[in-house]
Amino acid sequence: MLGARRLQHLLIKLREVLPLNYPISLQTNGILITGEILDLCSKYKVSISVSVDGPREINDKFRVDKQGEGTYQKVVEGINLLRHHQDSDFLYAGLLCVIDPDSNPEEVYKSLKGLGAKSIDFLCRDGNHTNLPYGKSTVNSTEYGEWLVKLLEIYISDTTPVKIRFLDDILRISLGGIGTKEGLGDNFYGIVIIEADGSLSKNDTLKSNFNGADKFDEKWVIKTARLSEVFKTPTFAEYYKLQNPTSKDCNSCDYLAICGGGMPLHRWSKDNGYDNPSVYCSDQKVLIKKAISILKKEGMLQ
Ligand code: SF4
Repeated sequence: MLGARRLQHLLIKLREVLPLNYPISLQTNGILITGEILDLCSKYKVSISVSVDGPREINDKFRVDKQGEGTYQKVVEGINLLRHHQDSDFLYAGLLCVIDPDSNPEEVYKSLKGLGAKSIDFLCRDGNHTNLPYGKSTVNSTEYGEWLVKLLEIYISDTTPVKIRFLDDILRISLGGIGTKEGLGDNFYGIVIIEADGSLSKNDTLKSNFNGADKFDEKWVIKTARLSEVFKTPTFAEYYKLQNPTSKDCNSCDYLAICGGGMPLHRWSKDNGYDNPSVYCSDQKVLIKKAISILKKEGMLQ
């Protein structure tokens, strides 16, 4: 949305302090991708991931423009520019799909694979115990878990699969490895957002819980605050601790090492704050059980 000129200015400034081998990535809905922007991203080594939720009818259910029109056509045009750029091997990092549990996982996977991505990330929708995520009928229902189990089956049986980070993480952690995503396994991330006005805030996913849930008590601004000092403050330590699941259910759960208790935003409720299992707990259990049974069947786990 900055446009090419201001994006270049930003990238020059960022690259003055971050060497070229330091990853900078851009998440976009793809609509404003142009050849000029891709050339800039190539020059300053910025990889791009595009958000798209599957085939047109699924994507356009939620991803609409200001006029309420589905964006699929424009997103695909942006992706086509990206995948046919001379530096696409570097530039085209992958796709990000927010799960619609009413969709058919096979159709979604096929359509995303058809867009030439080398990796796909799947996200469960925002939601918590007080405001259930779209498509989840009760806290104990398993619509997302069943959808992900089908996706896992499709993934495992695909002889030329496109990497799915979320499923790879579940399988890798089940085998004793380390995850790469927030909200899985026992990896902790201190995600800090630098807003467009320079103010620092917590992971912006938290704001779906309540107004101000993503705000620090201190009003830090990047122009005057040093991140290395911010990270040493009790306020930041308190925020960092949020990732640690505190609920009794999680701490006595056989799957804790794999599930990690889910993302903090998914644990919240009006009554208990973050002291709950994930609102996707039942879904996680269904998926992890399936992953373990596949690994056992393949002789990779006892
Ligand atoms: S959210 Fe559920 S599955 Fe995950 S660790 Fe907690 S109790 Fe276990």
